Amino acid sequence: MEIIVAPSAGFCFGVKRAVNMALDAANQYTSLEKLNTLGPIIHNPQVVKSLEEKGVFPIDNIDCGCFDTILIRSHGIKAEVMEKLRSKGLKIIDATCPFVKKAQNYINEAALKGYFIIMVGDKNHPEVQSVISFADKGRFLVINNLADLEKVPVSEKLALISQTTQDVNFYKCVINEINKKAKNEVVVFDTICDATIIKQEEAKIIASNVDVMIVVGGYNSANTNKLQNICKEIQRNTYHIETEDEVNPEWFANAKKVGITAGASTPDWIIDLVLKKVHDIDKAKLK
Ligand code: SF4
Repeated sequence: MEIIVAPSAGFCFGVKRAVNMALDAANQYTSLEKLNTLGPIIHNPQVVKSLEEKGVFPIDNIDCGCFDTILIRSHGIKAEVMEKLRSKGLKIIDATCPFVKKAQNYINEAALKGYFIIMVGDKNHPEVQSVISFADKGRFLVINNLADLEKVPVSEKLALISQTTQDVNFYKCVINEINKKAKNEVVVFDTICDATIIKQEEAKIIASNVDVMIVVGGYNSANTNKLQNICKEIQRNTYHIETEDEVNPEWFANAKKVGITAGASTPDWIIDLVLKKVHDIDKAKLK
């Protein structure tokens, strides 16, 4: 079988930076100092487990009084939580992705100028919660389907922003619809990350040229789930897996070409193990 691995598969810049910051910090800390991450460092259980083996555990509650230093993951945190951490005088290692910081700053400025914020994304995702927390209370709306457009206050000055991992075409569609309905000024912030666009475009090309497509990444990873949906629309033999153990030889019975891509929170070592497993299945087929 020909196996094509997407060149952009795996960690994006922001995730690589956050994981490296966590590993550097873990190596510098003594067992007497307590270093924790606020929530899992990334949406990948295998990476979280390997950090736990170095003594870095995720926590959810900043009032627990159980840590000396807190590491903020690439998604960022809510403005009010950052304020609270600062007021406690705790050491903060801020690994918020610079692109997420940029989105927070856009919202902050737009809110100060009186814009009502429309954010396209998943309202339960930590990145959306961190970014939208920079809007004024009650002066924002998070939407993730076209039906939500009914709720847009069309008479307001509107500022549109998207989750960095949002599907480009859906964001464009929302922008078009809002421009048709708006009765006041509309500003649009381009916050979809290049890493996401490149990954999605590569996945589309590969999925349309293979018989089986494998998407590797955490089941709780929004960008991996999005990649899976994009590939599945093109190639129905698309499988989302977290580890090589889930690769099923039956998927490849009639396959000549296999594509592999991976979400932004999937480390190279997991992609390599999946690749090896597919190679092994291929060798077994030839026997
Ligand atoms: S996908 Fe882009 S914005 Fe999100 S963490 Fe990675 S580099 Fe940063």
